[in-house]
Formats: sequence, C-alpha cells, structure tokens
Amino acid sequence: MIRHLQTVDMEKLVSLCKRRGLIYPGSDIYGGLGSLWDYGPLGSELKRNVKDAWWRAVVWQRDDVVGLDAAILMHPQTWVASGHAEGFTDPLVECKSCHHRFRTDHLQTPACPDCGGELTASRQFSLMLKTFLGPVEDTANQVWLRPETAQGIFVNFQNVLTTTRRKLPFGIAQIGKSFRNEITPGNFIFRTREFEQMEIEYFVKPGADEQWHQHWLQERMRWYTDLGIRPENLRLRRHDPTELAHYAKDTYDIEYRFPWGWGELEGIANRTDFDLKRHAEFSGRTLDYYDEETKEHIVPYVIEPSGGVDRALLAFLVDAYDEEPELKGDGRSDSGDEGARRRDPDRSGAPGGERLRTVLHLHPALAPVKVAVLPLSRNEKLAPTARQVYQTLRQRGRWSVEYDDAQSIGRRYRRQDEVGTLYCVTVDFKTVEGDPDTIGTVTIRDRDTMEQVRVPIPELVDALKERLER
Ligand code: ATP
Repeated sequence: MIRHLQTVDMEKLVSLCKRRGLIYPGSDIYGGLGSLWDYGPLGSELKRNVKDAWWRAVVWQRDDVVGLDAAILMHPQTWVASGHAEGFTDPLVECKSCHHRFRTDHLQTPACPDCGGELTASRQFSLMLKTFLGPVEDTANQVWLRPETAQGIFVNFQNVLTTTRRKLPFGIAQIGKSFRNEITPGNFIFRTREFEQMEIEYFVKPGADEQWHQHWLQERMRWYTDLGIRPENLRLRRHDPTELAHYAKDTYDIEYRFPWGWGELEGIANRTDFDLKRHAEFSGRTLDYYDEETKEHIVPYVIEPSGGVDRALLAFLVDAYDEEPELKGDGRSDSGDEGARRRDPDRSGAPGGERLRTVLHLHPALAPVKVAVLPLSRNEKLAPTARQVYQTLRQRGRWSVEYDDAQSIGRRYRRQDEVGTLYCVTVDFKTVEGDPDTIGTVTIRDRDTMEQVRVPIPELVDALKERLER
C-alpha cells in the first residue's frame, strides 16, 4: 500500500485520538494529571486487540509458553532481591533558576534547556512508587507499585514448573500494569508513569542462552511487521556495555522511528541466572531445575522480551496514520458538496485544493471497529433493514460493529476511515425497492481501496468473515 504522508504530525494524531474516543487526557475534568492518559471506547478496543495479538502469538501459537497474571503489589523483599530497591534510579539534575528537573542522560547541553540557567550536580532519583498496605503508614507496611511485571514471573517460577511439569526451554508470559515515577514523562503515551507491559521470561539451559536470544529477536521483530509496521520504521539496537542493566549480559532494543526520532518499543535482554539466584538467596527457597539427562540441578538462564502495550499501540497508530487524496464519487450524495466541506473541519483541503481523507490503515486484527452499518440516509424506508443487518452482524459476526446514521454518507465514510474501520456496509434504496436483481443486497466498502461490492444480505456474514479472516 502506498502511503502519502512522510511524517505524522503528533498534534493532529493526539487531537484525533481525543475527538474520536481513542485516548483522553487522564482526569480531564480536573485539568489532567502528570502525563497520564485514559483509553476511551475505541482506544480500549484497540488496546485489547494489541494485547490479544501478543497473547495469541506468544502463548496460543507456541507450545512452550504459558500465561500468568500476578498481583501488582508484591512482598517488599522482592525488590530488594531484584536490585530495584537500591538501583532502579535515573540520574536527575535540577535547574537552580526555574527549578525544572531533567534526566541527566537526556540532556544535550550543560545548561538548563528551558531557561539556560545553571544546573545542580547530578544525583540518583528512585523511579519506584510507594504505598502502604493496611491502616498504619509506617515503613514496616510500605510496599512498592511494581516497576516491571517480570518479578511476578520469577517468584512464580517454581509454582509454574511444578504445576505444569514443563521441560526446559519454556517461557512464562504476562501482561499487566507497571508504574515508574519518571522524571520527564512525555511524547503522549510513549513515556507515562502508569503503563502496561507485555513480558516473557523464557527459561533455557545455560549455554543455550545466546541462541535463544537470537530466536526471540527475530520473533519479536516479526510480530511488529506481521501486524503492519513498515520494516523501514523498525530497527534493532544493541546496548553498549556501559548501558546494560545490572542483571543483563546482553540486550537489544527494538526501536521505532517516531515523528520525534527513534524510540524503544521493546527491550530483549539476556538476564542470565541473576534473578532466580537472587530470589533463592533472599527467600531461602530452592529455585532450580532438575535436568533428567545430566541428573543435575541447574539454575536456568533467562531471555526476556519486554515490551510496552502503550508504546506498541502508539507505533501502530503512527504507522497506520495517513492523509490521502480523496477519490471522486466515494461518498455519493455529498461528493462535490462544497458547502459541506467548508462547514466540516474534518475535511481539510490539500494545498492544490484537492480533498484529503484521513485514514488509519490499521491491521485487521487491531482495528477497533471491524464493520460499520450505514443506512444511506435517515429515510424511514431504510432504517428497519439497516437495523436488522446491524443486529444480525452483532450476533453472528463476533466482531465489533457500529451503527451510524448521523449526517451525510460521505462524512460517515470519512469518520469510519479516520478510526480505521475495515468495512462499511451500506443499506441504500436499491436494497429496499426497484430492480429485482439488487433488492435485498447491500454494499461492502473496503477502507483501503474504497472499492464497493454488492452482496445479498443472506451472504453478508460469510462475505465479511472471509474478508476479516484472510
Ligand atoms: P526507557 O529507556 O525508554 O526509559 P527502559 O529501557 O527503562 O525504557 P524497560 O525497563 O526495558 O524500559 O521496559 C520494557 C518496556 O516497557 C519498554 O520497552 C517500554 O515499551 C515499556 N516502558 C518502560 N517504561 C515506560 C514508560 N514510562 N511509559 C510507557 N512504557 C514504558
């Protein structure tokens, strides 16, 4: 598919997300709160689809990975053992004049980027958010909100091993919320203080770790491209030895070319046997694996593909967003309606006077709405059939379906295009009267090609199923 836009304007994307119920600023009526965001009706569908696509690829379609859903709050010793209590920090500097704070490693100049003032010396700032369990707020009752889901997997390693009788290599996958008190959140949902992660801890025999690391690099890159991200917008970047986390022997980041530059979508680390050994030491439990071939107890090595749901979702949105010249005739009754165009802020004109349509070319598995049912107009002859078609699709289709009869048909097509609806089913006058060849038929319009085909209503579910599942 040819894309027209070279660079996506983030302001336009953020405004589309708010206007169409994908993503709202968190606590909006109170003026928002520190770069937190809420997913609206369409955004929550999109987010579920991202998570389902991941779960399908890493759990259902493999026979060596099982799922887990561990609690967000964990025993405080977990974070002492993992090294986070002491070492999960970012370097922070503060401007002596405007008191703005910055991550030292993100600064390009030795002076304050906001006012040019002098900066304090760099100090370590903990990213862990604290709370208290129970009625007494003292240090004995203090717990942390997890900054990664991974530790819930490590502390359940023995439970899963015993209950599933897995042999190495095998993995445990989990999706869930994590929290980090980021110094400088920003770039929409790219860096927030509450976010969701999709993580796999893949346990292997020591010595097989490097080969499995390569396997996961390829698998995870393929996941993004299979879901429609253009390969030229993705790259693998290996960590330089000075950048490696305290537990990692080797790490690669999958990066996406965001409008502001390359940014990490997922880190794929070789965590060695660090975490299992530390938890064994701090809990006093044995966390190992009995290898029946060699008759030895071993502590497995771990390969960890760790991605962010929100960052993946943002990359899918940015990559899918396009503004294309509108085709003549798409929209029938209102095509050429200059008055409607002037009144409609959604329909901006291209520099040459050509009309543009905004479209999200989201992969079918991700699109928040699969089918929209649109009566050509609000004429009472059309509504009963359109309603009937809508009900049939909702009940037999197992897809998200919308009904929209407000405003002209052309504007409704544009509205569906800008949220990535895959197919518009239109009930028009040919459906209900006139030529016997077309009575009882509806049109299916394809979001990407804008082509329309006519199908008899009894064949509609199968026709859509065939398109949606290919
Ligand atoms: P960064 O360098 O961008 O701060 P990180 O290397 O600290 O990220 P990891 O600890 O590797 O991130 O976390 C794994 C994944 O979790 C990241 O690749 C990202 O997709 C997601 N993630 C981490 N921090 C955030 C955040 N503050 N907001 C949204 N997603 C995040």
